[in-house]
Amino acid sequence: MDFALPAELESLLSRAHDFMREHVYPLEPVVATKGFDGAKAELDAAREACRRAGLWLPQMPEEYGGRGLPFLHHAHLSEVLGRSLLGHYVFNCQAPDAGNMELLHEQGSPEQKERFLRPLCEGSFRSCFSMTEPDRAGSNPTWLDTTAVLDGDEWVIDGRKWFTTAADGADFAIVMAVTDPDAAPHQRASMILVPTDTPGFVHTRRIAIMGEEGSGWMSHSEIEYRDCRVPKENLLGGQGFGFMLAQHRLGPGRIHHCMRWLGLCERAFDLMCERAAKREIAPGKPLGTRQIVQEWIATSRAEIDAARLYVQKAAWTIDTKGLYAARTEISCIKFFVADILQKVVDRSIQTHGALGITEDTPLSAIFRHERGARIYDGPDEVHKHVVARRALKAHGLELGGNG
Ligand SMILES: Cc1cc2nc3c(=O)[nH]c(=O)nc-3n(C[C@H](O)[C@H](O)[C@H](O)COP(=O)(O)OP(=O)(O)OC[C@H]3O[C@@H](n4cnc5c(N)ncnc54)[C@H](O)[C@@H]3O)c2cc1C
Repeated sequence: MDFALPAELESLLSRAHDFMREHVYPLEPVVATKGFDGAKAELDAAREACRRAGLWLPQMPEEYGGRGLPFLHHAHLSEVLGRSLLGHYVFNCQAPDAGNMELLHEQGSPEQKERFLRPLCEGSFRSCFSMTEPDRAGSNPTWLDTTAVLDGDEWVIDGRKWFTTAADGADFAIVMAVTDPDAAPHQRASMILVPTDTPGFVHTRRIAIMGEEGSGWMSHSEIEYRDCRVPKENLLGGQGFGFMLAQHRLGPGRIHHCMRWLGLCERAFDLMCERAAKREIAPGKPLGTRQIVQEWIATSRAEIDAARLYVQKAAWTIDTKGLYAARTEISCIKFFVADILQKVVDRSIQTHGALGITEDTPLSAIFRHERGARIYDGPDEVHKHVVARRALKAHGLELGGNG
């Protein structure tokens, strides 16, 4: 087994590390103080520097101004960018835009690509993905109340969504709505492109998460679609394809989330070690002399490295055998890495004592922002159920879709 990375990838990762140190980490205290919207000028300057450095839009093809990185290379880069909550945004490969770009690139009509995809790639647009509803269990995405009815040449959308990440200030949403209520559950919904200045697109509120409302890209919104009309050409992919496209979008997306979380783990780990080496609990006795802290460090090291190997194996399976062959691994890494992220960040916070829960280190923001990792893109329990169901089926126990 060869774990060596190609030389050109090593060089790219090293440049990305340098860029993060020079342009991205210094932005963290600025965003912590001013919020995302308040720090727009500084964020724009960092994005411009990223473009100049030739690091912009790593995941998209060159015809859209990207670097056209292969999937596995982008997964490695994702870990480096993931060391800061702002890394992916500065490089223009952040969720949910990156997933939306991929969808538009694969499924968009030529007109949709020009109108929505190109400005997204240029960084002049932001977007959001509007699927989850407050009144329906998000863990069962085939069960939605939001409808889209064709009226002449227009889709008329009605319904309520929430946790639409980055909707505040976004230029358009990709909305999941039921277009075929009598079809089989997996063929009922479609994806529709809705510019956010369309009458009937109502941004109700930004939802405070763990005490932080956030703004712009770093926020999550509740949206109402009230008699919201868009041209019928705004259907993305085929009618009734919504669920299938959502699944397709989430598979590779989970690899990127996991690699991003590993980046956060490494950052929290470095901070933990730095603090353990320097903070003296008595003269000449740094925290790192205590066995319990050594245990946190050693366990974290082993967990992070094991998780990385697992994610890389899942990414390799997607790349060589396709999404279907990788489905158990994708579910496993989703809950496995989210759990390790939580544990490592928590240990790092504990090592920092009171400092760990202030905004003077990035740990507190990481903890707040990433508690959701065990919930979004499928809660832990759903993924565990899926994995166990497949394992038990091989032993003759059929659990069916809802267990
Ligand atoms: C930070 C964050 C960002 C998000 N961004 C977006 C976004 O941009 N767009 C979007 O559309 N949605 C987004 N979501 C919503 C997310 O996809 C849903 O929260 C998720 O699918 C879970 O749905 P729910 O919250 O309705 O929980 P529910 O479906 O009500 O589930 C509640 C809990 O029940 C348990 N549970 C559920 N199903 C099972 C099962 N089969 N077996 C055992 N236990 C189960 C789990 O513990 C789960 O946490 C985001 C969520 C978070 C936290």
